[in-house]
Amino acid sequence: MGTGRDWDSFFDFLCNLNPAVKNAIINNSLAVCCKVAASKKYKATGCRIHSVSYFITQGGQKGMVRIEGLQKLTLLDYPERVACTVFTGGCNFCCPFCHNGDLLPIKDTVGQWSEAQLLEFLHKRRSILDGVCITGGEPLLQKELPVLLRQIKTLGYQIKLDTNGSFPDRLEQLVAEGLVDYVAMDIKNSLERYPETTGCMVSVLGPVKRSVDFLLQGKVPYEFRTTVVWELHDGQSMLAISQWISGAQRYFLQGFADSEHVVRKGLHGYTAAELEQLRQCMLPLLPTAKLRGIA
Ligand code: SF4
Repeated sequence: MGTGRDWDSFFDFLCNLNPAVKNAIINNSLAVCCKVAASKKYKATGCRIHSVSYFITQGGQKGMVRIEGLQKLTLLDYPERVACTVFTGGCNFCCPFCHNGDLLPIKDTVGQWSEAQLLEFLHKRRSILDGVCITGGEPLLQKELPVLLRQIKTLGYQIKLDTNGSFPDRLEQLVAEGLVDYVAMDIKNSLERYPETTGCMVSVLGPVKRSVDFLLQGKVPYEFRTTVVWELHDGQSMLAISQWISGAQRYFLQGFADSEHVVRKGLHGYTAAELEQLRQCMLPLLPTAKLRGIA
């Protein structure tokens, strides 16, 4: 939440930046960031300060892709593939229901895995794995991602990208270059409820809508999915989602399960029967809607 500690981290982050980067920020968007962050409206949302850094990171981080984790085998993350999952660090959103809170801070540091270590792992597993899921955090924050994906492609892997949809230009470039084979994009909520569901007061709706429009064109196989939380979603918001993405190839409602890692404590999921009711109300406009991961 918007505590003094968050502000301290924000200004520490600024002070530790390379002077050239700092100047660029000051000249470009810092004034906008601070104006937004200091406004009563922003503070009233309880958003974390690092969501304001969305402006700062539009340009991306320099150097290598920050890789914070590697799940060496998954049969669930990539449809019909035996895959591994790569977790990149940093996210421009701060969804209250996020289970990856440790991955969210945007840092200008190297991750737990180097690109060389990842590529060596993938080289050795070529006979076992056929897919690589790139997730986060928000992978498209990583300016150097295309370079890494090209190298993964040369090893013969299919690549799935998870994204929150806030970097449509980067998404389109990856698809145009054939660097992703499947895209899973989060639809966080109805357009009206995006700010409270993403922790972002800054407008992400324009970029998110562009990503949706792009994927709906079907230039790459894709899915949309929503993690449904009792405090954030209701019949009205799910109906609005079905209107927004009507015609989508694939759409999944995912149940929310609380855990000690969730960003905001005290959230609740719907029961399987309640989720099915929500799905039913979406079906007239979104016949592809399915439940996922519901016992
Ligand atoms: S759920 Fe995804 S988009 Fe939201 S904060 Fe977590 S990593 Fe970022």
